[in-house]
Amino acid sequence: MDNVIVRDEARCDGCGACVRNCPQLVYEQATAKTVPTIAAPARCFGCLACEEDCPHGALRVHRLPRGMSRDAVPAPGTGLDGERTYDLVVVGAGPAGLGAAIRARMLGLSVAVLERLPSPERSHHPDGGLLFVPPDAYRSTDGPDGLHLQDIDVAFPKELIRERLHDFVFMGPRGQSTRARDHDWKGFPLVSKDAFVEHLARRALERGATIAYNTRATGFEHEDGGPVTGVETDAGFTVHARVAISAEGVTGRLAAKAGVPLNERALCWAYAAEADLPPLARPTDEAGFFVDAADPDKRLPAGVGYWSSGPTVTHLAWGPMQKGKARVLARPVSELLVELAAKDPRVRARLGEPATVDPAAIDGCRVFGRRMPKTSVGDGLIAAGDAFTTCGMMTNIVALRAGDLAAQVAAGALHRNDVSIASLRAYDARVRKIQMIKGMGWMHNLLIQAPFELRAEKLNELYDRLRTLRLGKMMGGGVAEVLFFYLRNTFFLMRRKDLRPYLVP
Ligand SMILES: Cc1cc2nc3c(=O)[nH]c(=O)nc-3n(C[C@H](O)[C@H](O)[C@H](O)COP(=O)(O)OP(=O)(O)OC[C@H]3O[C@@H](n4cnc5c(N)ncnc54)[C@H](O)[C@@H]3O)c2cc1C
Repeated sequence: MDNVIVRDEARCDGCGACVRNCPQLVYEQATAKTVPTIAAPARCFGCLACEEDCPHGALRVHRLPRGMSRDAVPAPGTGLDGERTYDLVVVGAGPAGLGAAIRARMLGLSVAVLERLPSPERSHHPDGGLLFVPPDAYRSTDGPDGLHLQDIDVAFPKELIRERLHDFVFMGPRGQSTRARDHDWKGFPLVSKDAFVEHLARRALERGATIAYNTRATGFEHEDGGPVTGVETDAGFTVHARVAISAEGVTGRLAAKAGVPLNERALCWAYAAEADLPPLARPTDEAGFFVDAADPDKRLPAGVGYWSSGPTVTHLAWGPMQKGKARVLARPVSELLVELAAKDPRVRARLGEPATVDPAAIDGCRVFGRRMPKTSVGDGLIAAGDAFTTCGMMTNIVALRAGDLAAQVAAGALHRNDVSIASLRAYDARVRKIQMIKGMGWMHNLLIQAPFELRAEKLNELYDRLRTLRLGKMMGGGVAEVLFFYLRNTFFLMRRKDLRPYLVP
């Protein structure tokens, strides 16, 4: 992957934060307080941990799309008007930020989006690309012509849909999995995350939003503790806003710094390595997560992985989960993905063959596990998308919807000329009504909290219990499936107080 690390040498004081936090062991430091060398830049998988954690703002990592040279990266702030006050300024051009921008333009607001990435063509982090459209998020049509989200009038044409997958499972450490597919179910469309985000960016631009790439927001500006009045940037000026949306992804750092209590119940950090591989000779037509408890003998932390196999692409991802940000592994995370692909018996059993991952094709991201906060709003500021959920897995369409709702609430507040917390609070209520967001706690318990807290034996017992659940059906909107699962397991839940908290949201 083309990731270019740029360091402002004058700002580096040799604190070593980049060395401690890089999961790919890109940096080396001879002695404390000396400037680290960028020893293995080719290993950088673009998770941006070093950039985010450098206390002096000395590092930038450009996640360049294929074919883009560093010279083509626009100057920070390009296209923004530093003199103007935009109705809405959005931090982040991922699904949530673009949902906000598209809706804001539909409502006639002026909107500027600040995005640290160099271009719309490569997104902030790779993902499985499965699109779930919860019916309470959008009315949609999903057919041979593609997917159309009616309420926001965004269509993803058939050329963007790579394939459809017909089952979704969770798998435990021993390979035990939730129940197999439901044959009458039409399944989920799958897209390339990069193409999906680029498509949304084009729709936002067509509707008149301004998006400034290679523009890093560094903080929200307040006056005398009042509402947010602008977003400070690395372009050397503040972008003035009547109201702001933080759609900065899973860390929610800037919004938290501005007082939105997003990160009060933090659990863990994770680093995911991901690769798209060629399709299998016999694709298995499914996707799912697999989990591992920590293995003290092998000195491995708990981990969570993801795979999918369809007619056009096989996807594999894995990441260790750990208490703090500083890396705990003595080896690059990408090496562990390569090893797991080749040797893990579950990968072999599920895919029918070991997988070969080219280290140069591995993309990466950092994930932060936390309990959902009580509120996602501050004075003049709304946090949308992954910025307020449990573990970076709000999912793309729900993130789009969260941004869309944030813009609707912001527009109402502007209309009333009152962007106070009380006026924006409607966002919390509206966004949390979405079933998928209500269900985030359940997903968090099983995929993050349980592997992180339980020893292997108990994690296996927990996943044994899930064997009767038809997860694919549940995720396709089968609420009855969830009720049956709990009815079938009432006795177990009464008896097993130790495992109950992980099964009940
Ligand atoms: C391993 C993994 C697999 C997943 N698989 C799927 C899947 O198959 N299907 C699915 O629907 N969802 C999946 N998800 C979830 C999905 O990727 C996220 O829920 C979604 O990307 C959230 O969108 P967002 O806009 O909130 O955040 P992001 O997509 O993270 O976007 C945030 C944006 O803000 C920008 N930004 C951050 N800080 C700044 C700053 N200071 N200044 C300027 N810009 C900034 C970032 O560069 C980024 O572009 C997966 C997630 C993970 C971690």
